[in-house]
Amino acid sequence: MRDPDGSVMLNKDIISHFVLRLVYCRSDELKKWFLSMETALFRHRFRLQNFEAQRAIVGEFGLPYKAVTGAELEGLKERLGQVVRSLGQISPTVEAVYYKVPFEEVPDLVASRRVLIQKGYAFVAGSQLVSLVVTQFRSHISKALILTNRKWTTTIREREKDRLTPVVEALSTSYLGPDYSQSTEYAEISLKDIDQVAKSCFPLCMRHLFEKVREDHHLKHGGRMQLGLFLKGVGLKLDDALAFWRAEFTKKVGSERFDKEYAYAIRHNYGKEGKRTDYTPYACQKIISSAPGAGDHHGCPYRHFSEDNLRAALGRMGLSSRAMEDVMDKVRNKHYQLACTFTFEAVYGTSCDAGINHPNQYFEESQKILKSKTPPAPV
Ligand code: SF4
Repeated sequence: MRDPDGSVMLNKDIISHFVLRLVYCRSDELKKWFLSMETALFRHRFRLQNFEAQRAIVGEFGLPYKAVTGAELEGLKERLGQVVRSLGQISPTVEAVYYKVPFEEVPDLVASRRVLIQKGYAFVAGSQLVSLVVTQFRSHISKALILTNRKWTTTIREREKDRLTPVVEALSTSYLGPDYSQSTEYAEISLKDIDQVAKSCFPLCMRHLFEKVREDHHLKHGGRMQLGLFLKGVGLKLDDALAFWRAEFTKKVGSERFDKEYAYAIRHNYGKEGKRTDYTPYACQKIISSAPGAGDHHGCPYRHFSEDNLRAALGRMGLSSRAMEDVMDKVRNKHYQLACTFTFEAVYGTSCDAGINHPNQYFEESQKILKSKTPPAPV
């Protein structure tokens, strides 16, 4: 988006916003995701503005709130001071400007007890204006998404079926990062150390599948695809892959059935059968949006595990209770990739600014960290 010409950047920003409205208006889940991201972006940008600019934005929204002044403000100062002191600020002082608003319009301030409430009104400090505007912004975008969806389904989708519709329908699940089809210096594993590497470097989704295949000697199709392509991306050669799956599956289905039903699909994934397409490992978005049924083990644990199972799995990865609460908070807000990123940071004790977008990225980043910590072998 960066461009030396500010107006070009602004234009791109506006166009991308409306493109995303179109893409994310099509289901409740997409709408929810877009609303939460767009609100977070708005909140961030609003906070970057100075107070005057913030007041101008409040004016643009046409918010009917008046600043509390004179005797009313004087009468509240004692109680406002109590609220400020309860927030544990370094220099607790009552601010010069407060707005009187119906309490239900600032639910985040009420929930975190950061505002004085009296007779159904919340007294919002100037520095808390953001909460007021964000509620309005959210409701404005939410209504706009409903209208866009109505137009999309009644007219645009059909009219644009050969042009825009395929793009709009593919955009919310498309992944534009590296495809991890080629193994790199950090992605090269062999059969002999696969168990140890799975424990130390696999993301939770792959760890779970790996443990299941070792335990049950079987995985259903979705799990075989998700884990099989991941293993290919981390550098497991075709012969090693065949040996790995054979060793487990033959314990359950016998070697004749394995050769007949499963070996072909493994060679197929490596581009050695059928159309000879070189299939790429799945990105997080695809895994998160999958829908595992009963008996399936694929999917993203942050999205598909029950809370108890997820907590137990994170405990096995060695997360402290503090780190676990941070992860669970992201899960509750449906930020699954952020939850995975927090797990990564807690396990390896280092930040991951790019965030986790792909299981093979998780693997490579963890390998880099572990290899940098391993002392070189003596000559
Ligand atoms: Fe796997 Fe991605 Fe889910 Fe992490 S966020 S567990 S890498 S699918």
